[in-house]
Amino acid sequence: MQYRRLGSSGLQLSVLSYGTWVTFANQLGRGEARELVAQCHDRGVNFFDNAETYANGESERILGDVLVDLRLPRDSFCVSSKAFFGAVDAPRPTQRGLSRKHLRDACDQALARMRLDYLDLYFCHRPDPEVPIAEIVTTMDLLIRQGKVLYWGTSEWPAALVLEAIAFARGNGLIAPQMEQPQYNLLERARVEHEYPPLFREHGLGATVWSPLASGLLSGKYAQGVPDDSRLNAEGYEWLRKLVLARRDTVQQSLLRFSALADALGAAPATLAIAWCLRNPQVTTVILGASKPTQLEANFAALDLCARLDAATVARIEACFASD
Ligand code: NDP
Repeated sequence: MQYRRLGSSGLQLSVLSYGTWVTFANQLGRGEARELVAQCHDRGVNFFDNAETYANGESERILGDVLVDLRLPRDSFCVSSKAFFGAVDAPRPTQRGLSRKHLRDACDQALARMRLDYLDLYFCHRPDPEVPIAEIVTTMDLLIRQGKVLYWGTSEWPAALVLEAIAFARGNGLIAPQMEQPQYNLLERARVEHEYPPLFREHGLGATVWSPLASGLLSGKYAQGVPDDSRLNAEGYEWLRKLVLARRDTVQQSLLRFSALADALGAAPATLAIAWCLRNPQVTTVILGASKPTQLEANFAALDLCARLDAATVARIEACFASD
């Protein structure tokens, strides 16, 4: 495993981390989740990503149970949660969003579900136009000073709003956001490569990027239809199935070219897609999603492959997606 600093902070995260969205509770029970978390920790993964909204809190409960069951030393791993969407169906106004009340309640609830004393990373999962930036920043600063959170950040916020939060924090002696969590993969590059670089370069933010395979699409697994055990068949994720399959149809030629290139390089397309994310030094950690140990192994192989990617190969990879 390799480790990178979370932006300008002193925290070193493994460049490959593991997230639980869709998989925990919807696809996997505690036994299988335990196996995957153990495999990640054995391989040096030190960051597990979670959120209040994943399976309405059940994903956090499973991760908490697994961490206790595996008896992993608390100082050997980091855990996140994210607040915004709520952890119940049809949340009331105080059960969602980024108000001081919900940020604090969601933090306490995540700690209880995961049986932790503190969250290493705590994210505002989306911007909330109903809450003043001052309220969000002062709340996050307070949660850090109370020892409940170590670093706070945002997910999928426009760069201008992150800058507003940073300016308010610095102007008032408060702790500024330390990281963003954007989507980043060969099909979604704009935010990380064009919008956020000033945040990374000038303000020291780290990036914990999500969906490196675009929900599995870049692995080529949906070329011949949807496998039975896929997340696209999970109950309640019909919207994701529709989205991913529509995307597949739009970028079909790109995916074929990419699979052929991976083949020529002797790598699985999933491995190559993750290696491509890793080659960007502004990415702190690529959050993997995987529902099987074999998928994790293929994804870990991206570490070695990344070391062998030269500029010409990166150009060939990107050329696969230049047009469709
Ligand atoms: P990916 O894009 O990597 O998709 C993961 C899925 O792809 C797996 O569940 C599996 O699907 C399939 N897959 C993984 N590896 C392989 C492989 N080697 N070969 C074939 N198929 C493979 O990541 P996610 O979309 O899961 O995102 C990762 C994490 O990022 C999430 O768990 C979550 O923690 C975070 N996230 C954050 C968001 C945010 O708004 N901040 C939004 C979304 C995710 P299957 O199970 O069907 O086989």
